[in-house]
Amino acid sequence: MLLESQLNLIQDIQADHLFDPSSKYSYEEYIQKTTQYIVGFLNKDNFYSGESSSTLKQRIEESASTTETQLTIDEALQEVKELYLDHTISFHNPNYVAHLNCPVLLPAIVGDLIASSVNTAVETWDQSTSATFIEQEIIRWISAQMRFPTSSDGVFTSGGTQSNFMALLMARDHYAFTHYGLNIKQNGWSDVVSRFRFFCSEKAHFSIQKNAALLGMGYDAVIPVATDTAMKMQPDVLVQAIEKEKQSGNIPIAIVATAGTTDYGSFDPLETISKIAKEYDIWFHVDGAYGGCYVLTDTHNHLFEGIKHADSVTIDFHKTFFQPVCSSAFLAKNKQHFQYVSYYADYLNPIENRDPEHPDLIEKSIQTTRRFDALKLWFTLKITGTKTISAFLEKVHYLALELYYSIKDDIYFEVAHKPELSTLVFRYTALGVTDDKVHDTINLYIKNTLFKTGQASVASTKLNDVIYLKFTLLNPKSTIDDVLNIIQMIKKTGSDYKTIN
Ligand SMILES: *Cc1c(COP(=O)(O)O)cnc(C)c1O
Repeated sequence: MLLESQLNLIQDIQADHLFDPSSKYSYEEYIQKTTQYIVGFLNKDNFYSGESSSTLKQRIEESASTTETQLTIDEALQEVKELYLDHTISFHNPNYVAHLNCPVLLPAIVGDLIASSVNTAVETWDQSTSATFIEQEIIRWISAQMRFPTSSDGVFTSGGTQSNFMALLMARDHYAFTHYGLNIKQNGWSDVVSRFRFFCSEKAHFSIQKNAALLGMGYDAVIPVATDTAMKMQPDVLVQAIEKEKQSGNIPIAIVATAGTTDYGSFDPLETISKIAKEYDIWFHVDGAYGGCYVLTDTHNHLFEGIKHADSVTIDFHKTFFQPVCSSAFLAKNKQHFQYVSYYADYLNPIENRDPEHPDLIEKSIQTTRRFDALKLWFTLKITGTKTISAFLEKVHYLALELYYSIKDDIYFEVAHKPELSTLVFRYTALGVTDDKVHDTINLYIKNTLFKTGQASVASTKLNDVIYLKFTLLNPKSTIDDVLNIIQMIKKTGSDYKTIN
């Protein structure tokens, strides 16, 4: 006999909310209705409504405090539209040129929908079956593009930050093991590790420092190396830095080269740096979070020649392969090195059950439950194909170059570099103003005003302590007129600044 409380529970359960055979018609209805709202999001003119953060926060707090009411799908969609879709940022809008967010491809979106509905977790073979092999095939494909041998391996990660974390961890634990017989995974910290040093360019991504800190080694374990006028790491300065650290008793263990720096898109000279790493017998990691996908292009493929000497590679598909977040991979040249992150749990993947025919991808990942992010990429490769993606990437690169040539001699602008990928760093300079602090204020005023008014989203960064604006161009449908239109907005706002202040 059922207790009264159990009877109440059964009545409370909305059977058609769980994705199962009884909900298939509701599923179709939900998806169809949702699709209309998503299409509505595409119809907005501005990249941002310009609504104030205080208004948005207040409305969302109000809604959050009324969780008792059970909304219908229509009511909930209407609310999500008003609270989120109407005010969120449209990365497909040509006036969005701020960060490394790309417009996404339709095959990738539906691939994600399948992955989310089925909810495969790519951990152990018995949870993921075919998904295991689909992910492995994508890894094999991208590894071959990176000129890695078949003895290499890789895994999908949550992003470049996590991939770089894995690289630094492997480099450290491998060095500690091969040079000192230390097993850090088993025994933890050893004093000598405090003297381990990583080298990367001063334009490398902040996740190198952050990950060194997370590994218990601190920001100071990372030695920034000066770049040249093209924002590339200078090999002679790298050698000097390595020698200097050795002289002061520290132990160089890895070099991180960047294939496409976040701000300038610059490629460190991989071939030369690989030789330096070989000379010192230390780990060579290539961070291709931004530039990695350019390996597919005719314009940039030659820049990857030296990557075959790398021990590990980071690549982000959610930046330059037009994939929804997350889609990213970490590759290691020697698959044995994944042992530094593997763990064998009795309940999940007991070591005695290891079987190459039924691989458990968890052995290579620092995540346990992990999304099946490879499916959207698989779908993209099948439907869109690499030719189109490579054309997209070349298009945004040429757009950045065209913008560079359009403004480099303009007296109102000072450009910081010639684009190697699809970013341009520059600043507005007011005529007759020589104080950099004033220019900093004007450039920040421009950036903030354009955002607040919903006109355009432009990023800012610092070069030699001076504030610059940055365009990150990732929309292959943007035209030179679109970007020059933002340049006009910048000029207008810059000249308004004088009259307002
Ligand atoms: C964006 C970026 C990262 C971090 O990647 P996430 O996917 O945002 O974690 C690392 N390195 C470089 C060069 C990047 O541009």
